[in-house]
Amino acid sequence: MITRNGIAVSPGVATGETLVIGSEDFRIPQRFISRKQVTQELERFRLALQHVSEEIAENERLANEEIGALYGAIFSAHLQMAQDPKLISEVETLIRDRCYSPEFASSRTLRKYARQFKSLGNAYFAERAVDIYDLEKRILRHLLGEQRESLADLTEPVVVLAHNLTPSETAGLNREFVLGFATEIGGRTSHTAILAAALGIPAVVGLGPFLADISGGETVLIDGTTGEVCIDPDDETLIRFNASRERHKSSLHRLECMSELTAETNDGVRIKLQGNIEFPQEAEQCQLRGADGIGLYRTEFLYLGRKEIPSEQEHYEAYREVAQAFPDQLTIIRTLDLGADKIPGWMVREHDEESNPALGLRSIRLSLNHLDMFKTQLRAILRAAVGVNIGIMFPLVSSLLEFRRARMAVREVMEDLEEQDIPCNKNVLLGIMVEVPATVIMAEEFAREVDFFSIGTNDLIQYTLAADRSDPEVAKYHSAADPAIIRMIDMVIKAGKNHNVPVSVCGQMSSDPKCVPLLIGLGIRQISVSPHVIPEIKEVIRSISIDQAIEIAKYAKSQDLARDVESYLTRELQKILAK
Ligand code: PEP
Ligand code: MG
Repeated sequence: MITRNGIAVSPGVATGETLVIGSEDFRIPQRFISRKQVTQELERFRLALQHVSEEIAENERLANEEIGALYGAIFSAHLQMAQDPKLISEVETLIRDRCYSPEFASSRTLRKYARQFKSLGNAYFAERAVDIYDLEKRILRHLLGEQRESLADLTEPVVVLAHNLTPSETAGLNREFVLGFATEIGGRTSHTAILAAALGIPAVVGLGPFLADISGGETVLIDGTTGEVCIDPDDETLIRFNASRERHKSSLHRLECMSELTAETNDGVRIKLQGNIEFPQEAEQCQLRGADGIGLYRTEFLYLGRKEIPSEQEHYEAYREVAQAFPDQLTIIRTLDLGADKIPGWMVREHDEESNPALGLRSIRLSLNHLDMFKTQLRAILRAAVGVNIGIMFPLVSSLLEFRRARMAVREVMEDLEEQDIPCNKNVLLGIMVEVPATVIMAEEFAREVDFFSIGTNDLIQYTLAADRSDPEVAKYHSAADPAIIRMIDMVIKAGKNHNVPVSVCGQMSSDPKCVPLLIGLGIRQISVSPHVIPEIKEVIRSISIDQAIEIAKYAKSQDLARDVESYLTRELQKILAK
């Protein structure tokens, strides 16, 4: 039994057979063959091995010529391994006697040796283990070739264990067959984590390296509420996970009544509680949970997990579906936030060269660089806004000039539609995400021009504290409780008040129950949260008074360490919910 603890990002317990996707995205589609196939599969293995040997020999020759014999020797060691008769005979025995597919047999054998090397516990042997994994990858690459399967083509239920899943891959997961997933990397506010919750797939991220010891097919349990992952669980662990599953179910049941109740503090102050969505169908879930409209529709997911660019009509239908779920409330449609980790297939080449994509051509910058694509989206939004209440929000705005250029694009599109006699709504609100420190610093100036602010704490924290939101190694630095972040939120709230501009928070900070009293105490009266936490957040809102929230914010603001604020907020939440 192997157990690991990671970051719980999408609640629920999943159990099933593992499907392993390593850092090179190899998966072994078939683990067993029939008796009849043995001869042919042995032949396939030998051929792959021959190609691997030729490839390594070529690398050896090049290294000898270009950088010297010392480096060439690295490859001669690899070649010796690839041609080791004991190793070859072990793989062939598994294929012949146990009907393992060559992929499964190679992976099993090589990982067994790698594990043995690693367990010897010194640096020299650990490096040999790395060489063995490298050989495994080479063999798999030759065996699988074009047969590498996509996660979208699954035919049986699995729990996916991967080094990483990109937002595109996650968006394309087949919910019928992917029972849950766990990844070695990823952070609490990564897009992959947000998507898992949107898809309702239990998930744990940021587990650290653990895939090397797993070849696929084992039974795995993942608990997306506690962050625990267990491979080949014993009976005691099964009982523990089942208990967690029951607890999760009963807490869902307990919170069901919240959908009928309004989000107001116990002294009667109404808090607007909206939903963040990635897919149009989620609007209905927000409605069922009693949300006050949509505060963030991440429209870039129309582009991810598919090959072609969506048409204006597809945009239009998606926006209409969302807005009609809330005919009397505001729906805020964020224009596409592509780039960084959200790269659709057709955009890959353009972004290949970016050495620092989070600081690269993303979000509004990308839209302004691709005006045709941007205007197609704007046309659809303005058309869909007829007779309903829609706001347009621009992501990652970092200067007034960007906002003005985006606003100009909206005006041009309105004129085009008017000229073409196509009905559109000319009274849509135009707002921005506040997620770049420069925008916070310039909040007063922005407040003179925008209709609303929505604070995107996920990126704001990442850019303010220089901590990648997807990297578990720096997860402890990516904290909403950091005094610098609290001060920034305060600045935006003040600018909003001075100019009568509403300020909402749509980053994951507002989906974290312990941060909600703090936000309310700072003066926030509008938040937008992940649909699955709406009932829980409503319960927190209904359990506090404004005076209490102000006290909490006052104390939090007096602290100078994120760690102290975090433990204080946790304690306060416990007290609030215990009453
Ligand atoms: C944010 O950055 O906080 C945000 C809400 O936007 P996204 O998570 O889509 O980057
Ligand atoms: Mg963002």
